[in-house]
Amino acid sequence: MYCWGGDLFSYSNLLEEVQNFCKYGIETGIVGESELHQAIPYIFVGNKNGKCMIVQGAIHAREHLTALLVVNLAKFLVKYNPSMLGGIYFVPMVNPDGVRLCQEGVGFIEDKQRKSNLLAINRSTDFSLWKANADGVDLNVNFDANWSEGKQNQFYKGSQNYVGKHPLSAAESRALVEFTQRLNPLVTLSYHLKGEQIYWDFHQKGLARHRDRRYANMLSAYTGYQLVDSQGSVGGYKDWCIQSLGIPAFTIEVGADCYPHPFPYHQFNTIFQQNKDLPRKLLNTIIRDKEQLADAGLADIM
Ligand SMILES: [Zn+2]
Repeated sequence: MYCWGGDLFSYSNLLEEVQNFCKYGIETGIVGESELHQAIPYIFVGNKNGKCMIVQGAIHAREHLTALLVVNLAKFLVKYNPSMLGGIYFVPMVNPDGVRLCQEGVGFIEDKQRKSNLLAINRSTDFSLWKANADGVDLNVNFDANWSEGKQNQFYKGSQNYVGKHPLSAAESRALVEFTQRLNPLVTLSYHLKGEQIYWDFHQKGLARHRDRRYANMLSAYTGYQLVDSQGSVGGYKDWCIQSLGIPAFTIEVGADCYPHPFPYHQFNTIFQQNKDLPRKLLNTIIRDKEQLADAGLADIM
């Protein structure tokens, strides 16, 4: 049903999709701007009652298939209009500069110095395996959660693993944090490629740990993906959500590990089927749980 007939899902494809949502009267907007001042759009589906979730994709450039996935997760809800107890902000492409670099090479970059720096860093005109933003910062290690303490962290610009000069040094991670703080979501989902795995922990303790493991098990049962421990990875968006906001937050690595990067789009339908109603089910469950706890006079532990 959601078979993608075209080539790679691009930033301009995303802007067209966002316009289409807009035409159907669906709320869309801007999370913020990238380093190269490209808009980072969102699509909102559901009820505006303050009980919301954020679903984001393509924070890593070469994982642009997850942008197509996040757009289609929003479309699924618009098309079938199932019962929603809250609302979902879909942010399909947190790293538009990186995705363009990945798909187009440096041709679209106007600044000559930046262009030659990127070519020097990448040592090739082929950027199809690039993960970082257009500044060589890996956005998913740039958040303020045990920043720079990770096993694989790097301290120089690169196609991956560079933590940046300081936490939130990158425009994209800053924009996502400000957006998240403004919305105060109950939960966040981050889509990555690849491995069919779910990351859920970041030093939670006690009841929060128990709660988050329970939701992680639910995600695992729905998708068929395995739960894994974070094992020394830090500075991610999910890590920051867990540590700073105290909410459940999950990184879902879609896509079978047997396929190499750049990840083949023929796997899209399989991935979509594994995830299509996951955001809504998770948000509804969390809202129901909170209501039950509130009824029992236990709201403060959630
Ligand atoms: Zn990733």
